[in-house]
Amino acid sequence: MAEQDTPLWLFADQLGRHFHGGEHEHRRILLVEASSALARRRFHRQKLHLILSALRHAKADLGERATLLRADTYTEALRGYGRPVLVHEPTSHAAERFVHRLRDAGLVADILPTPAFALSRAEFGHWAGERTRFRMEDFYRDQRRRFSVMMVGTDPVGGRWNFDADNRESPPKGVNTLEVPPPYRPAEDGIDAGVRRDLDGMGIDTVGADGPRLFAVTPTEAGEALSQFIGHRLALFGRYEDAILGADWAMAHSLLSVPLNLGLLHPLDVVHAAESAYRDGSAPLAATEGFIRQILGWREYIWQLYWHFGPDYLDSNHLGAHTPLPDWWTHLDADAVDAACLHDALAGVRDRGWAHHIQRLMVLGSHALQRGYQPRELNDWFSASFVDGFAWVMPANVIGMSQHADGGRMATKPYTSGGAYINKMSDHCRSCRFDPKKRLGPDACPFTAGYWAFVDRHQGLLSANMRTARAVSSMKRLADLPAVLEQERHRDTF
Ligand SMILES: Cc1cc2nc3c(=O)[nH]c(=O)nc-3n(C[C@H](O)[C@H](O)[C@H](O)COP(=O)(O)OP(=O)(O)OC[C@H]3O[C@@H](n4cnc5c(N)ncnc54)[C@H](O)[C@@H]3O)c2cc1C
Ligand code: SF4
Repeated sequence: MAEQDTPLWLFADQLGRHFHGGEHEHRRILLVEASSALARRRFHRQKLHLILSALRHAKADLGERATLLRADTYTEALRGYGRPVLVHEPTSHAAERFVHRLRDAGLVADILPTPAFALSRAEFGHWAGERTRFRMEDFYRDQRRRFSVMMVGTDPVGGRWNFDADNRESPPKGVNTLEVPPPYRPAEDGIDAGVRRDLDGMGIDTVGADGPRLFAVTPTEAGEALSQFIGHRLALFGRYEDAILGADWAMAHSLLSVPLNLGLLHPLDVVHAAESAYRDGSAPLAATEGFIRQILGWREYIWQLYWHFGPDYLDSNHLGAHTPLPDWWTHLDADAVDAACLHDALAGVRDRGWAHHIQRLMVLGSHALQRGYQPRELNDWFSASFVDGFAWVMPANVIGMSQHADGGRMATKPYTSGGAYINKMSDHCRSCRFDPKKRLGPDACPFTAGYWAFVDRHQGLLSANMRTARAVSSMKRLADLPAVLEQERHRDTF
């Protein structure tokens, strides 16, 4: 049992007031920079910057109340601190096992339920019950009802739960950018300069370019980022949610995944801010519903499935994909890639550690699926290379949604497409050396030809699924299929 004055240890993704305010207001805070954790993988340079900057800003904000220790390992720091601490449930299986070991060793006094998400793990357990198949849509509707978000009595505002049909348009014609006001951009300070200097000196092997800090790392910055998005960008969010413009890296996305995943914003506060904008007439219904679905639906669902599916889920490989990730991919060498859509998405990861959802799913993920990249390796790559990548958010997104390696537990069909989809949803194809309509020849689009090679490889699985059977019959009508397959077997440049 913890004493009233037991200090509270916060991990770097637990830095918002909902972790240390309220009933914990009186406790001293322990923060730890563990160099072994920073070097555990080849992380994106900007991701390490965000984590160190967040921890050091938290120390500065909390002042005398907080102690920030630098050590090789968390255990060494806790031993040096000399007092048992409280900690909230951490966000990965490995960290959960670790804090239990620390409790057994007497270094942790107690492990508290995490306040990071709207729904607790126990409540999800009740919801999941005996279900073996899950649908995000069912979960999302229950979340709306449970937290009374965008509801009129027992009905959804506007009479519909889902406004996807009004969203997800192709990008507007004749423009290079969406012409929405720019996203919030924090001002770097002396803490960032110190972090940059320390990272230069630590000799840690990182990937990606260093660059100005683009994401919020304090509760104040996160609040400003949220206000800027809700006030100036939300209105266009849903409509172009799935569109890609080469010259507009952020489109109308919120860029809130970093402050959300650092625990700086509570998801319900984000959802309430969006709902207020709708109710005071400053954001349209379809955009607001589309955004709330991402936070209260998808994000919460992915978190819960991480725990529900368990650690072995990571080793799922239903499609038998064994291709090692190529070096140009792991080194984020976008300049080695000609395919304009892939080049641009990889360059986004190299330069910012970030690419938007449709680039992750329908460009990077789709390419990996078509080429049979090993799912767990891919999962670890996403986790290390993206600034918002954390252990809990990867498996259902990468192993499940993007690679279908779980045999359909997460998504009813594999997400992949030929160049026609990318041509419809982006402005990339017109400047690309490949032709989205061609599947054979020197300018054959790697997505179009790769799509048919994928359908051929998995035709047994795809023909047994109502949603994908047509792809197999279309493939069987392609007179040049053998030549396309032969070409793709030997393709070594993209
Ligand atoms: C292959 C793949 C890898 C991904 N990797 C990550 C990751 O490392 N970290 C991460 O936070 N999200 C990840 N996502 C989900 C989503 O792409 C990002 O949350 C989003 O692109 C972040 O940008 P944003 O904040 O501008 O999001 P917006 O487009 O503005 O969406 C709003 C918010 O909704 C939440 N959200 C929406 N979809 C998801 C989802 N599927 N899973 C979790 N949260 C979601 C995020 O918190 C996001 O900030 C991944 C998706 C795929 C398909
Ligand atoms: S032609 Fe193919 S490779 Fe080039 S941008 Fe279009 S979809 Fe991508």
